[in-house]
Amino acid sequence: MGGPESLRPKRRPTVSVDVGGVLVGSAHPVVVQSMTNTDTADPDGTAIQVARLAHAGSQLVRITVNTDAAAAAVPEMLRKLRDNLGVDVPVIGDFHYNGHQLLVDHPEMAKGLAKYRINPGNVGTKRHDQHFATIVRVAIEYDKPVRIGVNWGSLDQALLTELMNENAAAPEPRDARDVMIEAMIESAMRSAELAETTGLRHDRIILSAKVSQVRDLVDVYRILARRSDYPLHLGLTEAGMGDKGIVASAAGLAILLDEGIGDTIRVSLTPEPGAGREREVEIAQQVLQSLGLRAFLPQVSACPGCGRTTSTFFQEMAQQIQQHLKDRMPEWQATRPGVEEMRVAVMGCVVNGPGESKHADIGISLPGTFEDPVAPVFIDGKLDRTLRGGGLVDEFIGILEDYVERRYPAPAASAPT
Ligand code: SF4
Repeated sequence: MGGPESLRPKRRPTVSVDVGGVLVGSAHPVVVQSMTNTDTADPDGTAIQVARLAHAGSQLVRITVNTDAAAAAVPEMLRKLRDNLGVDVPVIGDFHYNGHQLLVDHPEMAKGLAKYRINPGNVGTKRHDQHFATIVRVAIEYDKPVRIGVNWGSLDQALLTELMNENAAAPEPRDARDVMIEAMIESAMRSAELAETTGLRHDRIILSAKVSQVRDLVDVYRILARRSDYPLHLGLTEAGMGDKGIVASAAGLAILLDEGIGDTIRVSLTPEPGAGREREVEIAQQVLQSLGLRAFLPQVSACPGCGRTTSTFFQEMAQQIQQHLKDRMPEWQATRPGVEEMRVAVMGCVVNGPGESKHADIGISLPGTFEDPVAPVFIDGKLDRTLRGGGLVDEFIGILEDYVERRYPAPAASAPT
């Protein structure tokens, strides 16, 4: 994993929950997950998107199961995913309002999914507990874990009203925000208790309590983390689009992960129209790698550039090298174990270039404006050679390839028996 062990945050201790073979909990690396946005009633489209997310690195993929047609399509989608596309990522069903009916009416779907997400806020109002218990009994029957996923956009209104009334009658009423946070935590904890009294094992429960503001997220999860040892699914809900969604998600996740809180994460980005969903997986991986919690892809340290690098050559070079690493990773993953921890420096000039390159595994510093047209290359902290003239990028990529081959040898093939 990226970063020295001593710098890694100590994880809050939790039980381990097995989600279709992927272990979630403090004894295991933080799991990256994502969610489709296809119509689940379309088994082809959904299978393709699940496969894309899995190829991007999503270890769990959630699909919405909202109608009879969607529920009926799940077994076929799973067959296509496994048999036609060769992808065996665990698939999670996201249920709201009618989950109790769908899980009972579609046993093949219930058996095929690796986990059920239950939203206690909309599992039913009048017969809330009965519907909730029905889902839990299906989970027990098929030996599936559940995520009790509270969301402030669909918070249990009866519970919120109860806590608001109690608060209003208190000698020193608290802020409405505090009561809302308490209601979210109570909703998760009471539901978990109900699941266990219904017979679900303690190590079959994951909790989440998602909000859309970073500060609220941090407060909710800090309290939730203190109240139980269930693994926590972390993420900002409705994070938004583009930079705002990425930055807000990274900020919220980083604070909590750095405190050891969070066992599986999702970055809930709104994609640009027509864009794929894989971006949310890349961002989640980048958050974990930036914190030194996991390693997925060699990291490029590049300086921002300044008046000493007045052409776009430097930016283009940094971009080409980064893209090369990304393109090579699917093959390297299988053949070059450990390469995901490699650090590459691409620096604009010799002011900070050699220093940064010495801290990386391999690095290059370009000549700044009006400087000698030479580019020193450092390998494992030592000056290896100096490049000059055109073709710098190709030459450096060649050196990089040789370095990967030498430093991360392919595992020896097992001897024939
Ligand atoms: S390394 Fe050189 S080019 Fe890059 S920001 Fe520093 S001074 Fe500017």
